[in-house]
Amino acid sequence: MPPLTMTMTPLPPSLSKPSILLVDDREEDLLTLAEVLDRSDYELILARSGQQALRHLLSQDFAVILLDVHMPMMDGFEVASIIKQRDRSRYTPIIFLTADDADVGPIYRAYSVGAVDYLTKPIDRDVVRAKVAIFVDLHMKGERIKQQAEALLAADRRERERKLVELQQLSERRYKNLAEAIPQIVWTANARGEVEYFNGRWATYTGVPLRDAVGRAWLEMVHPEDRTRFLEAWTSALEDGHTLEVELRLREEGGAYRWHLCRAVAERGKDDEIIGWLGTYTDFHDLKTAHDEAREAIRSRDDFLAVATHELRTPLATLNLQADGLLKGLDPKRDERTYPRAEAVRRQVDRLERLIESLLDVSRIASGRLQLAVERCDLSALVRDVCERSRFELERAGSELTLDIPSLVIGWWDRMRLEQVVLNLLGNAIKYGLGKPIAVSLTADHERARLTIRDHGIGISAADRSKVFMRFVRATSIDNYGGVGLGLWIARQIVEAMDGTIEVESVPDEGSTFTVSLPMPAQS
Ligand code: ADP
Repeated sequence: MPPLTMTMTPLPPSLSKPSILLVDDREEDLLTLAEVLDRSDYELILARSGQQALRHLLSQDFAVILLDVHMPMMDGFEVASIIKQRDRSRYTPIIFLTADDADVGPIYRAYSVGAVDYLTKPIDRDVVRAKVAIFVDLHMKGERIKQQAEALLAADRRERERKLVELQQLSERRYKNLAEAIPQIVWTANARGEVEYFNGRWATYTGVPLRDAVGRAWLEMVHPEDRTRFLEAWTSALEDGHTLEVELRLREEGGAYRWHLCRAVAERGKDDEIIGWLGTYTDFHDLKTAHDEAREAIRSRDDFLAVATHELRTPLATLNLQADGLLKGLDPKRDERTYPRAEAVRRQVDRLERLIESLLDVSRIASGRLQLAVERCDLSALVRDVCERSRFELERAGSELTLDIPSLVIGWWDRMRLEQVVLNLLGNAIKYGLGKPIAVSLTADHERARLTIRDHGIGISAADRSKVFMRFVRATSIDNYGGVGLGLWIARQIVEAMDGTIEVESVPDEGSTFTVSLPMPAQS
């Protein structure tokens, strides 16, 4: 038989020498095998028993195992089945060495326990070398593929890591660019509340560079009067992670202080733990100053009105008496020129009196001094009475009045104040009603009484509807209709003080409907 030749794939430098385990209890057979396979690129490990072979397998992997079938104590089949049971060596090819190829029994058995091939003794040197070379070559190819797969995986991992770092750097850059782009001062702090970063706006505003402001040094820029309040709020936010919101004054480069709103939110990690803080300072100095000034102006106005109306009351009472006296002393027929003038004076004094009362009500309500005098009263009679009293104005305006009122609606309310509300609403319906019909209706059940006053006049635009109940707000020009914009505000305060509501529905140029809803209070 011509000698068998095998070409081995050259070993790449990174692959270690393939190890071959030779197992035979007969010393001379073992040495012969070793001599046949003695090559510089093989590492041969010799085992003289099955136990010895298994010990080697515990610490080392082999490209191929040559295993003698007949061995005392533990034969080759036993050794093979143990090798095949272990995960680490399950796929290591085993070539069995049998004494005689005439007896096929052991050969079948060898295959059944996982042998890949067999050799008969005495061995044919070329056949041994060729077969071993095939399995070593297969092993090396497998190793190479494994190594390449690992290299690919590592490269893939490195690529992914690189992309992740790139992405992180990009998002950090964008985060910082965004912080630089906004007009507020932006800062970040660690979980302990020590500031680590300020955007450029900080240095522009305070004149203090970042390196001098980190940690807690920036506190120097907070107005001394605001420091304790701020620190208390900041400490409490740091403790439980709630959003910080404090108004404080920050010193600008020139030394002046400006009001800022300081807001900070906690940044949380995977397990919801606080990993840092993201904060801003928003300059609202102008807004706050304007707001404070407006509040002060309103307070001064209310003070002035309170004093002025009080001072006006005494001369007005005298004027009232004089007007009454004047009218009584005149005869409409005899003094036909003077009488209407005296009447006009009388009406103007009445108007003035109502205005002064309204202004007094404003200061009473604003200072919480509006007191209700609740008594048993009939709302039906009250409404009828007010309508009767308004007859002159109705006639003058040319508006026809229709009433839809039950005979009795008894409840417990402040009679005078309710009269004031109805008089006001009816007065407005006449004033803004363009001389068209006005309808007043009253309904009641055991829970509520509802009074509706409907006119067909100028109406109120949707934008103005929400405002007409505000103090000093008017939806019409002073040139067309007189008034100071207090009637509806006072009406609302009175109705709400009685736990009621007042609402308006209106269509411009078609008219308005005001509805007052009052709870029917239990008799007290
Ligand atoms: P005043 O009538 O003295 O201006 P009010 O507080 O009574 O003050 O009313 C506030 C504003 O609501 C009025 O200036 C007017 O623009 C509007 N308004 C009130 N009632 C009516 C109504 N019935 N129809 C149209 N506009 C009304």
